[in-house]
Amino acid sequence: MRILLASSEVYPYSKTGGLADMVGSLAKALSHIGHEVALVTPLYSGVIDRFPDIKRVQWDMRLAVGSRTVEGEVWERQTDDGVRLLFVGQGGYFLRPALYSANGADYEDNAERFIFFSKAVVHLARYLPGGIDVLHVHDWQSALAPLFLRHQETEGWRNPPVTCLTIHNLAYQGVFPAGGFALTNLPAQYMSPSVGEFYGAFSFLKAGLAVSDVLTTVSPRYAREITTEEFGCALDGLLRHRQDVLTGILNGVDYDEWNTERNPRLAAPYSVDDLAGKAKNKAALQKRMGLSIEKAVPLFASITRLVEQKGVDLALGAVQEMLDQGMQFVLLGSGQPRLERAFETLARRHPERAATRIGYDAGLSHLIEAGADFFLMPSRFEPCGLNQMYSLRYGTIPIVRATGGLDDSVTDICESTEGVNGIKFRQPSTQVVAHSIRKALALYREPDLMSHYRHNGMTADFSWDRSAREYVSVFEGAIHRRRGLKQKSVA
Ligand code: ADP
Repeated sequence: MRILLASSEVYPYSKTGGLADMVGSLAKALSHIGHEVALVTPLYSGVIDRFPDIKRVQWDMRLAVGSRTVEGEVWERQTDDGVRLLFVGQGGYFLRPALYSANGADYEDNAERFIFFSKAVVHLARYLPGGIDVLHVHDWQSALAPLFLRHQETEGWRNPPVTCLTIHNLAYQGVFPAGGFALTNLPAQYMSPSVGEFYGAFSFLKAGLAVSDVLTTVSPRYAREITTEEFGCALDGLLRHRQDVLTGILNGVDYDEWNTERNPRLAAPYSVDDLAGKAKNKAALQKRMGLSIEKAVPLFASITRLVEQKGVDLALGAVQEMLDQGMQFVLLGSGQPRLERAFETLARRHPERAATRIGYDAGLSHLIEAGADFFLMPSRFEPCGLNQMYSLRYGTIPIVRATGGLDDSVTDICESTEGVNGIKFRQPSTQVVAHSIRKALALYREPDLMSHYRHNGMTADFSWDRSAREYVSVFEGAIHRRRGLKQKSVA
Protein backbone atom coordinates (compact mmCIF):
# COMPACT_ATOMS: atom_id res chain seq x y z
CA MET A 1 0.00 0.00 0.00
CA ARG A 2 1.31 3.50 -0.82
CA ILE A 3 0.60 5.76 2.13
CA LEU A 4 1.17 9.50 2.41
CA LEU A 5 1.05 10.90 5.94
CA ALA A 6 0.78 14.64 6.60
CA SER A 7 1.46 16.35 9.89
CA SER A 8 2.43 19.82 11.10
CA GLU A 9 5.06 18.23 13.35
CA VAL A 10 7.19 15.12 13.07
CA TYR A 11 9.85 13.88 15.46
CA PRO A 12 12.86 14.36 15.16
CA TYR A 13 12.40 17.35 12.82
CA SER A 14 9.89 19.33 14.88
CA LYS A 15 7.90 18.73 18.06
CA THR A 16 5.60 20.46 20.49
CA GLY A 17 3.82 17.36 21.80
CA GLY A 18 2.88 13.71 21.42
CA LEU A 19 1.62 14.27 17.84
CA ALA A 20 5.20 14.54 16.56
CA ASP A 21 6.25 11.28 18.25
CA MET A 22 3.18 9.43 17.07
CA VAL A 23 3.50 10.40 13.41
CA GLY A 24 7.25 9.72 13.30
CA SER A 25 6.81 6.30 14.91
CA LEU A 26 3.75 5.30 12.88
CA ALA A 27 5.49 6.14 9.58
CA LYS A 28 8.47 4.01 10.63
CA ALA A 29 6.25 1.12 11.72
CA LEU A 30 4.15 1.19 8.52
CA SER A 31 7.33 1.05 6.48
CA HIS A 32 8.67 -1.75 8.71
CA ILE A 33 5.65 -3.95 7.99
CA GLY A 34 6.16 -3.55 4.25
CA HIS A 35 4.31 -0.46 3.04
CA GLU A 36 5.60 2.38 0.89
CA VAL A 37 5.48 5.43 3.16
CA ALA A 38 6.04 9.13 2.54
CA LEU A 39 5.48 11.86 5.10
CA VAL A 40 4.81 15.57 4.38
CA THR A 41 5.58 18.26 6.95
CA PRO A 42 6.54 21.95 6.89
CA LEU A 43 10.18 22.94 6.65
CA TYR A 44 10.70 24.92 9.86
CA SER A 45 13.70 26.98 10.98
CA GLY A 46 16.82 25.03 11.79
CA VAL A 47 15.74 21.72 10.23
CA ILE A 48 18.26 21.86 7.37
CA ASP A 49 21.05 22.80 9.80
CA ARG A 50 20.31 19.70 11.85
CA PHE A 51 19.73 17.43 8.82
CA PRO A 52 22.10 18.65 6.09
CA ASP A 53 21.21 15.69 3.85
CA ILE A 54 17.78 17.23 3.15
CA LYS A 55 17.86 18.15 -0.55
CA ARG A 56 15.76 20.50 -2.63
CA VAL A 57 13.65 18.76 -5.29
CA GLN A 58 13.01 20.27 -8.74
CA TRP A 59 9.37 20.84 -7.95
CA ASP A 60 7.99 24.27 -7.20
CA MET A 61 4.38 24.84 -6.24
CA ARG A 62 2.30 27.91 -6.94
CA LEU A 63 -0.87 27.73 -4.89
CA ALA A 64 -3.77 30.15 -4.60
CA VAL A 65 -4.39 31.40 -1.04
CA GLY A 66 -7.30 33.80 -1.33
CA SER A 67 -6.39 36.49 -3.83
CA ARG A 68 -2.65 35.75 -3.64
CA THR A 69 -0.51 33.13 -5.34
CA VAL A 70 1.95 31.68 -2.87
CA GLU A 71 5.06 29.83 -3.97
CA GLY A 72 6.30 26.78 -2.13
CA GLU A 73 9.34 24.54 -2.43
CA VAL A 74 9.66 20.80 -1.95
CA TRP A 75 12.60 19.36 -0.05
CA GLU A 76 13.30 15.68 0.49
CA ARG A 77 15.09 13.25 2.77
CA GLN A 78 15.17 9.46 2.55
CA THR A 79 15.55 7.88 6.01
CA ASP A 80 17.23 4.60 6.90
CA ASP A 81 13.82 3.40 8.09
CA GLY A 82 12.53 3.50 4.51
CA VAL A 83 10.34 6.57 5.07
CA ARG A 84 10.51 9.32 2.44
CA LEU A 85 10.27 12.74 4.10
CA LEU A 86 8.83 15.55 1.99
CA PHE A 87 9.22 19.04 3.42
CA VAL A 88 7.08 21.93 2.28
CA GLY A 89 9.23 25.06 2.20
CA GLN A 90 7.61 28.47 2.46
CA GLY A 91 9.89 30.87 4.27
CA GLY A 92 7.26 33.48 5.09
CA TYR A 93 5.03 30.93 6.79
CA PHE A 94 7.41 28.45 8.36
CA LEU A 95 10.82 30.02 9.04
CA ARG A 96 9.83 31.40 12.43
CA PRO A 97 11.13 30.94 15.98
CA ALA A 98 8.34 28.50 16.93
CA LEU A 99 5.74 26.29 15.26
CA TYR A 100 2.44 27.89 16.20
CA SER A 101 2.91 30.81 18.58
CA ALA A 102 5.24 33.45 19.97
CA ASN A 103 5.23 35.03 23.45
CA GLY A 104 2.22 32.97 24.50
CA ALA A 105 0.02 34.12 21.58
CA ASP A 106 -0.85 32.10 18.46
CA TYR A 107 0.51 33.52 15.20
CA GLU A 108 -2.23 35.67 13.71
CA ASP A 109 -1.97 34.01 10.32
CA ASN A 110 -2.19 30.39 11.51
CA ALA A 111 -5.32 29.84 9.39
CA GLU A 112 -3.48 31.03 6.29
CA ARG A 113 -0.32 29.04 7.11
CA PHE A 114 -2.15 25.76 7.49
CA ILE A 115 -4.54 26.33 4.59
CA PHE A 116 -1.41 26.67 2.48
CA PHE A 117 0.13 23.58 4.06
CA SER A 118 -3.02 21.50 3.46
CA LYS A 119 -3.18 22.67 -0.15
CA ALA A 120 0.47 21.69 -0.59
CA VAL A 121 -0.26 18.25 0.88
CA VAL A 122 -3.04 17.67 -1.64
CA HIS A 123 -0.88 18.96 -4.47
CA LEU A 124 1.79 16.40 -3.56
CA ALA A 125 -0.81 13.65 -3.09
CA ARG A 126 -2.13 14.36 -6.59
CA TYR A 127 1.10 14.68 -8.50
CA LEU A 128 3.55 12.35 -6.71
CA PRO A 129 4.87 9.99 -9.39
CA GLY A 130 3.25 6.57 -8.97
CA GLY A 131 0.28 7.95 -7.02
CA ILE A 132 -0.84 6.98 -3.53
CA ASP A 133 -3.61 4.80 -2.09
CA VAL A 134 -4.11 6.54 1.27
CA LEU A 135 -3.74 10.11 2.52
CA HIS A 136 -3.51 10.06 6.33
CA VAL A 137 -3.74 13.49 7.98
CA HIS A 138 -3.42 14.45 11.65
CA ASP A 139 -5.24 17.02 13.78
CA TRP A 140 -6.60 20.38 12.66
CA GLN A 141 -3.41 21.63 11.02
CA SER A 142 -3.79 19.23 8.09
CA ALA A 143 -7.51 18.48 8.47
CA LEU A 144 -8.46 20.62 5.47
CA ALA A 145 -6.49 18.41 3.08
CA PRO A 146 -9.35 15.86 2.75
CA LEU A 147 -11.69 18.77 1.96
CA PHE A 148 -9.44 20.11 -0.81
CA LEU A 149 -9.11 16.58 -2.12
CA ARG A 150 -12.88 16.09 -2.11
CA HIS A 151 -13.33 19.29 -4.07
CA GLN A 152 -10.67 18.37 -6.62
CA GLU A 153 -12.50 15.06 -7.09
CA THR A 154 -15.56 16.98 -8.25
CA GLU A 155 -13.31 18.85 -10.67
CA GLY A 156 -11.89 15.89 -12.48
CA TRP A 157 -9.34 14.13 -10.20
CA ARG A 158 -10.11 10.52 -11.02
CA ASN A 159 -9.22 7.83 -8.47
CA PRO A 160 -7.90 10.00 -5.65
CA PRO A 161 -6.62 8.21 -2.54
CA VAL A 162 -8.91 7.42 0.39
CA THR A 163 -8.52 9.85 3.28
CA CYS A 164 -8.07 9.16 6.98
CA LEU A 165 -8.07 11.87 9.68
CA THR A 166 -6.67 11.07 13.13
CA ILE A 167 -7.79 13.08 16.17
CA HIS A 168 -5.00 13.32 18.74
CA ASN A 169 -6.85 15.65 21.10
CA LEU A 170 -10.35 16.89 20.32
CA ALA A 171 -9.83 19.94 22.54
CA TYR A 172 -7.68 21.52 19.79
CA GLN A 173 -9.86 22.21 16.75
CA GLY A 174 -8.39 25.04 14.67
CA VAL A 175 -11.39 27.37 14.86
CA PHE A 176 -10.92 30.73 13.07
CA PRO A 177 -13.08 33.70 12.17
CA ALA A 178 -15.43 32.90 9.27
CA GLY A 179 -13.61 35.38 7.00
CA GLY A 180 -10.67 32.97 6.85
CA PHE A 181 -12.71 30.62 4.68
CA ALA A 182 -12.06 32.92 1.67
CA LEU A 183 -8.39 31.87 1.83
CA THR A 184 -9.40 28.32 0.82
CA ASN A 185 -10.73 29.48 -2.57
CA LEU A 186 -13.44 26.84 -2.15
CA PRO A 187 -17.12 27.31 -3.05
CA ALA A 188 -19.35 28.57 -0.25
CA GLN A 189 -21.16 25.22 0.07
CA TYR A 190 -18.20 23.91 2.11
CA MET A 191 -18.78 26.59 4.72
CA SER A 192 -22.22 25.13 5.52
CA PRO A 193 -23.10 23.75 9.00
CA SER A 194 -22.66 20.21 7.67
CA VAL A 195 -19.01 20.91 6.75
CA GLY A 196 -16.81 23.79 7.99
CA GLU A 197 -19.16 26.21 9.72
CA PHE A 198 -19.03 25.99 13.52
CA TYR A 199 -21.12 28.43 15.56
CA GLY A 200 -20.50 31.19 13.03
CA ALA A 201 -16.77 30.46 12.76
CA PHE A 202 -14.67 28.27 10.43
CA SER A 203 -13.47 25.01 11.99
CA PHE A 204 -10.69 23.13 10.22
CA LEU A 205 -11.17 20.01 12.32
CA LYS A 206 -14.92 19.91 11.81
CA ALA A 207 -14.50 20.17 8.02
CA GLY A 208 -12.02 17.29 8.08
CA LEU A 209 -14.26 15.17 10.32
CA ALA A 210 -17.20 15.77 7.99
CA VAL A 211 -15.53 14.73 4.73
CA SER A 212 -12.71 12.25 5.45
CA ASP A 213 -13.45 8.69 4.39
CA VAL A 214 -12.40 7.28 7.76
CA LEU A 215 -11.62 8.76 11.16
CA THR A 216 -9.43 7.43 13.90
CA THR A 217 -8.38 8.51 17.34
CA VAL A 218 -5.65 7.32 19.63
CA SER A 219 -7.47 4.83 21.87
CA PRO A 220 -10.68 2.76 21.66
CA ARG A 221 -12.06 4.24 24.87
CA TYR A 222 -11.47 7.84 23.70
CA ALA A 223 -13.21 6.93 20.41
CA ARG A 224 -16.32 6.14 22.45
CA GLU A 225 -15.92 9.08 24.83
CA ILE A 226 -15.78 11.74 22.11
CA THR A 227 -19.22 10.73 20.88
CA THR A 228 -20.64 11.90 24.25
CA GLU A 229 -21.48 15.41 25.31
CA GLU A 230 -19.06 15.22 28.25
CA PHE A 231 -15.95 14.66 26.09
CA GLY A 232 -17.21 15.72 22.64
CA CYS A 233 -16.09 19.39 22.76
CA ALA A 234 -19.30 20.37 20.89
CA LEU A 235 -18.47 17.99 18.03
CA ASP A 236 -20.10 14.92 19.60
CA GLY A 237 -23.16 15.20 17.33
CA LEU A 238 -21.04 15.03 14.18
CA LEU A 239 -18.94 12.24 15.68
CA ARG A 240 -22.04 10.20 16.53
CA HIS A 241 -23.18 10.71 12.95
CA ARG A 242 -19.83 9.37 11.69
CA GLN A 243 -19.45 6.66 14.34
CA ASP A 244 -19.52 3.86 11.76
CA VAL A 245 -16.19 5.07 10.31
CA LEU A 246 -14.56 6.09 13.61
CA THR A 247 -11.99 3.67 15.11
CA GLY A 248 -9.85 3.98 18.22
CA ILE A 249 -6.30 2.62 17.89
CA LEU A 250 -4.00 2.80 20.88
CA ASN A 251 -0.67 4.49 20.14
CA GLY A 252 2.43 2.37 20.46
CA VAL A 253 5.64 2.83 22.39
CA ASP A 254 9.06 3.09 20.78
CA TYR A 255 10.76 0.29 22.70
CA ASP A 256 14.13 1.10 21.09
CA GLU A 257 13.96 4.36 23.02
CA TRP A 258 12.05 3.19 26.10
CA ASN A 259 13.92 0.14 27.36
CA THR A 260 15.51 -0.78 30.67
CA GLU A 261 18.24 -3.08 29.41
CA ARG A 262 20.32 -0.87 27.09
CA ASN A 263 19.65 2.67 28.20
CA PRO A 264 22.48 5.08 29.03
CA ARG A 265 20.04 7.35 30.90
CA LEU A 266 19.50 4.76 33.65
CA ALA A 267 21.75 4.23 36.67
CA ALA A 268 21.67 0.44 36.17
CA PRO A 269 20.06 -1.95 33.68
CA TYR A 270 17.31 -4.35 34.73
CA SER A 271 14.73 -6.64 33.19
CA VAL A 272 11.60 -8.55 34.06
CA ASP A 273 13.79 -11.54 35.03
CA ASP A 274 16.22 -9.54 37.12
CA LEU A 275 14.83 -6.51 38.92
CA ALA A 276 17.92 -5.83 41.07
CA GLY A 277 18.86 -2.84 38.90
CA LYS A 278 15.52 -1.19 39.56
CA ALA A 279 16.43 -0.68 43.22
CA LYS A 280 19.69 0.98 42.11
CA ASN A 281 17.70 3.37 39.93
CA LYS A 282 15.47 4.17 42.89
CA ALA A 283 18.47 5.06 45.06
CA ALA A 284 19.99 7.12 42.21
CA LEU A 285 16.72 8.99 41.75
CA GLN A 286 16.34 9.69 45.48
CA LYS A 287 19.91 10.98 45.54
CA ARG A 288 19.54 13.15 42.44
CA MET A 289 16.30 14.69 43.73
CA GLY A 290 17.69 15.28 47.22
CA LEU A 291 15.24 12.90 48.93
CA SER A 292 16.26 10.66 51.82
CA ILE A 293 17.67 7.43 50.36
CA GLU A 294 15.33 4.78 51.75
CA LYS A 295 14.79 1.50 49.98
CA ALA A 296 11.65 0.62 51.93
CA VAL A 297 9.71 3.84 51.39
CA PRO A 298 7.42 3.66 48.32
CA LEU A 299 8.28 6.33 45.77
CA PHE A 300 5.51 7.89 43.67
CA ALA A 301 6.14 10.04 40.58
CA SER A 302 4.48 12.20 37.93
CA ILE A 303 5.93 13.55 34.68
CA THR A 304 3.49 15.85 33.04
CA ARG A 305 2.44 19.11 31.50
CA LEU A 306 1.04 21.09 34.44
CA VAL A 307 -2.42 21.78 33.02
CA GLU A 308 -5.96 21.08 34.15
CA GLN A 309 -6.40 18.20 31.67
CA LYS A 310 -3.77 16.15 33.49
CA GLY A 311 -5.53 16.39 36.86
CA VAL A 312 -2.33 17.59 38.51
CA ASP A 313 -4.31 19.63 41.05
CA LEU A 314 -5.89 16.34 42.18
CA ALA A 315 -2.48 14.70 42.46
CA LEU A 316 -1.19 17.64 44.48
CA GLY A 317 -4.09 17.54 46.94
CA ALA A 318 -3.86 13.76 47.36
CA VAL A 319 -0.09 13.80 47.86
CA GLN A 320 -0.39 16.60 50.43
CA GLU A 321 -2.89 14.44 52.31
CA MET A 322 -0.83 11.24 52.11
CA LEU A 323 2.77 12.41 52.44
CA ASP A 324 2.95 11.70 56.17
CA GLN A 325 1.74 8.10 55.64
CA GLY A 326 5.23 6.91 54.65
CA MET A 327 5.72 7.75 51.00
CA GLN A 328 7.88 9.93 48.77
CA PHE A 329 6.87 11.91 45.70
CA VAL A 330 8.75 13.29 42.69
CA LEU A 331 7.32 15.63 40.08
CA LEU A 332 8.86 16.64 36.74
CA GLY A 333 6.85 19.06 34.65
CA SER A 334 6.08 22.53 33.53
CA GLY A 335 3.00 24.52 32.65
CA GLN A 336 0.67 26.84 34.51
CA PRO A 337 2.75 29.07 36.85
CA ARG A 338 0.19 28.62 39.67
CA LEU A 339 0.68 24.85 39.61
CA GLU A 340 4.46 25.12 39.23
CA ARG A 341 4.58 27.25 42.37
CA ALA A 342 2.32 24.87 44.30
CA PHE A 343 4.56 21.88 43.61
CA GLU A 344 7.66 23.89 44.47
CA THR A 345 6.07 24.85 47.78
CA LEU A 346 5.25 21.19 48.49
CA ALA A 347 8.90 20.24 47.93
CA ARG A 348 10.16 23.11 50.09
CA ARG A 349 7.91 22.08 52.97
CA HIS A 350 8.85 18.39 52.82
CA PRO A 351 12.44 18.26 51.50
CA GLU A 352 13.02 14.61 52.50
CA ARG A 353 9.78 13.34 51.04
CA ALA A 354 8.84 15.51 48.05
CA ALA A 355 10.90 16.89 45.18
CA THR A 356 9.91 19.06 42.22
CA ARG A 357 11.76 19.80 38.99
CA ILE A 358 10.18 22.46 36.82
CA GLY A 359 11.20 22.14 33.19
CA TYR A 360 11.49 19.59 30.41
CA ASP A 361 14.15 16.93 30.88
CA ALA A 362 13.96 13.80 28.73
CA GLY A 363 16.94 12.14 30.43
CA LEU A 364 15.53 12.63 33.93
CA SER A 365 12.15 11.30 32.77
CA HIS A 366 13.77 7.91 32.06
CA LEU A 367 15.41 7.81 35.49
CA ILE A 368 12.11 8.73 37.16
CA GLU A 369 10.24 6.00 35.30
CA ALA A 370 12.93 3.50 36.28
CA GLY A 371 13.37 4.62 39.89
CA ALA A 372 9.76 5.13 40.98
CA ASP A 373 7.52 2.40 42.41
CA PHE A 374 4.24 4.02 41.34
CA PHE A 375 3.33 6.51 38.61
CA LEU A 376 0.43 8.88 39.22
CA MET A 377 -1.67 10.00 36.22
CA PRO A 378 -5.10 11.28 37.31
CA SER A 379 -6.02 12.90 33.94
CA ARG A 380 -9.50 14.40 33.55
CA PHE A 381 -9.33 13.17 29.97
CA GLU A 382 -6.51 11.42 28.15
CA PRO A 383 -6.83 10.57 24.45
CA CYS A 384 -4.05 7.98 24.73
CA GLY A 385 -1.29 8.92 27.16
CA LEU A 386 2.21 7.56 26.88
CA ASN A 387 3.65 7.73 30.37
CA GLN A 388 1.46 4.96 31.72
CA MET A 389 2.78 2.68 28.97
CA TYR A 390 6.38 3.68 29.70
CA SER A 391 5.69 2.97 33.39
CA LEU A 392 4.37 -0.50 32.61
CA ARG A 393 7.51 -1.37 30.63
CA TYR A 394 9.72 0.05 33.41
CA GLY A 395 8.01 -2.03 36.14
CA THR A 396 6.50 1.08 37.72
CA ILE A 397 2.89 0.55 38.66
CA PRO A 398 0.56 3.16 37.12
CA ILE A 399 -2.24 4.72 39.16
CA VAL A 400 -4.63 6.26 36.64
CA ARG A 401 -8.09 7.62 36.13
CA ALA A 402 -10.22 5.24 34.03
CA THR A 403 -10.45 7.47 30.97
CA GLY A 404 -9.31 7.29 27.33
CA GLY A 405 -6.10 5.41 26.66
CA LEU A 406 -5.41 5.09 30.40
CA ASP A 407 -8.45 2.87 30.71
CA ASP A 408 -7.41 0.83 27.67
CA SER A 409 -3.82 0.19 28.75
CA VAL A 410 -4.11 -0.30 32.53
CA THR A 411 -5.93 -3.24 34.13
CA ASP A 412 -7.18 -2.96 37.73
CA ILE A 413 -7.67 -5.93 40.02
CA CYS A 414 -11.42 -5.25 39.95
CA GLU A 415 -11.41 -6.09 36.23
CA SER A 416 -9.12 -9.12 36.10
CA THR A 417 -6.66 -10.84 38.37
CA GLU A 418 -4.70 -12.30 35.45
CA GLY A 419 -3.65 -9.21 33.55
CA VAL A 420 -3.73 -6.82 36.53
CA ASN A 421 -0.96 -4.24 36.13
CA GLY A 422 -2.14 -1.05 37.84
CA ILE A 423 -4.65 0.82 39.97
CA LYS A 424 -7.62 2.65 38.43
CA PHE A 425 -10.23 5.01 39.79
CA ARG A 426 -13.19 6.79 38.24
CA GLN A 427 -14.08 9.94 40.14
CA PRO A 428 -11.80 12.92 39.51
CA SER A 429 -11.52 14.00 43.15
CA THR A 430 -8.67 14.50 45.59
CA GLN A 431 -10.23 12.01 48.05
CA VAL A 432 -10.45 9.30 45.43
CA VAL A 433 -6.84 9.85 44.29
CA ALA A 434 -5.75 9.73 47.96
CA HIS A 435 -7.69 6.48 48.37
CA SER A 436 -5.84 5.02 45.37
CA ILE A 437 -2.51 6.02 46.93
CA ARG A 438 -3.65 4.21 50.08
CA LYS A 439 -4.31 1.09 47.98
CA ALA A 440 -0.82 1.44 46.50
CA LEU A 441 0.73 1.63 49.98
CA ALA A 442 -1.08 -1.59 50.91
CA LEU A 443 0.07 -3.25 47.70
CA TYR A 444 3.65 -2.21 48.44
CA ARG A 445 3.49 -4.24 51.66
CA GLU A 446 2.73 -7.41 49.61
CA PRO A 447 5.94 -8.13 47.64
CA ASP A 448 4.51 -11.15 45.81
CA LEU A 449 1.54 -9.18 44.58
CA MET A 450 3.79 -6.25 43.59
CA SER A 451 5.89 -8.70 41.53
CA HIS A 452 2.77 -10.02 39.86
CA TYR A 453 1.68 -6.50 38.83
CA ARG A 454 5.18 -5.65 37.66
CA HIS A 455 5.55 -8.83 35.65
CA ASN A 456 2.26 -8.23 33.85
CA GLY A 457 3.18 -4.62 33.07
CA MET A 458 6.69 -5.34 31.86
CA THR A 459 5.56 -8.12 29.54
CA ALA A 460 2.60 -6.25 28.02
CA ASP A 461 3.00 -5.45 24.32
CA PHE A 462 2.30 -1.89 23.24
CA SER A 463 4.63 -2.01 20.25
CA TRP A 464 4.08 0.17 17.19
CA ASP A 465 3.90 -2.79 14.81
CA ARG A 466 0.65 -3.86 16.44
CA SER A 467 -0.86 -0.36 16.08
CA ALA A 468 0.42 0.01 12.49
CA ARG A 469 -1.37 -3.20 11.49
CA GLU A 470 -4.61 -1.82 12.91
CA TYR A 471 -4.18 1.37 10.83
CA VAL A 472 -3.62 -0.74 7.72
CA SER A 473 -6.82 -2.63 8.37
CA VAL A 474 -8.72 0.69 8.71
CA PHE A 475 -7.18 1.90 5.42
CA GLU A 476 -8.09 -1.38 3.69
CA GLY A 477 -11.67 -1.05 4.92
CA ALA A 478 -11.87 2.44 3.42
CA ILE A 479 -10.47 1.25 0.09
CA HIS A 480 -12.97 -1.64 -0.06
CA ARG A 481 -15.83 0.66 0.78
CA ARG A 482 -14.75 3.11 -1.90
CA ARG A 483 -14.58 0.29 -4.49
CA GLY A 484 -18.01 -0.94 -3.40
CA LEU A 485 -19.51 2.53 -3.81
CA LYS A 486 -17.89 2.92 -7.25
CA GLN A 487 -19.26 -0.43 -8.43
CA LYS A 488 -22.72 0.53 -7.18
CA SER A 489 -22.60 3.85 -9.02
CA VAL A 490 -21.47 2.10 -12.27
CA ALA A 491 -24.29 -0.46 -11.92
P1 ADP B 1 0.62 14.83 26.33
O1 ADP B 1 1.03 14.57 24.88
O2 ADP B 1 -0.83 15.13 26.50
O3 ADP B 1 1.48 15.85 27.02
P2 ADP B 1 1.45 12.08 26.81
O4 ADP B 1 1.53 11.23 28.03
O5 ADP B 1 0.73 11.49 25.64
O6 ADP B 1 0.84 13.49 27.19
O7 ADP B 1 2.92 12.39 26.32
C1 ADP B 1 3.72 13.27 27.01
C2 ADP B 1 5.17 12.99 26.65
O8 ADP B 1 5.97 14.08 27.05
C3 ADP B 1 5.70 11.81 27.36
O9 ADP B 1 6.70 11.22 26.57
C4 ADP B 1 6.30 12.44 28.64
O10 ADP B 1 7.28 11.66 29.23
C5 ADP B 1 6.85 13.68 28.09
N1 ADP B 1 6.96 14.77 29.05
C6 ADP B 1 5.98 15.58 29.49
N2 ADP B 1 6.48 16.52 30.33
C7 ADP B 1 7.79 16.29 30.41
C8 ADP B 1 8.87 16.91 31.10
N3 ADP B 1 8.67 17.96 31.89
N4 ADP B 1 10.12 16.42 30.92
C9 ADP B 1 10.32 15.35 30.14
N5 ADP B 1 9.36 14.72 29.46
C10 ADP B 1 8.11 15.18 29.58
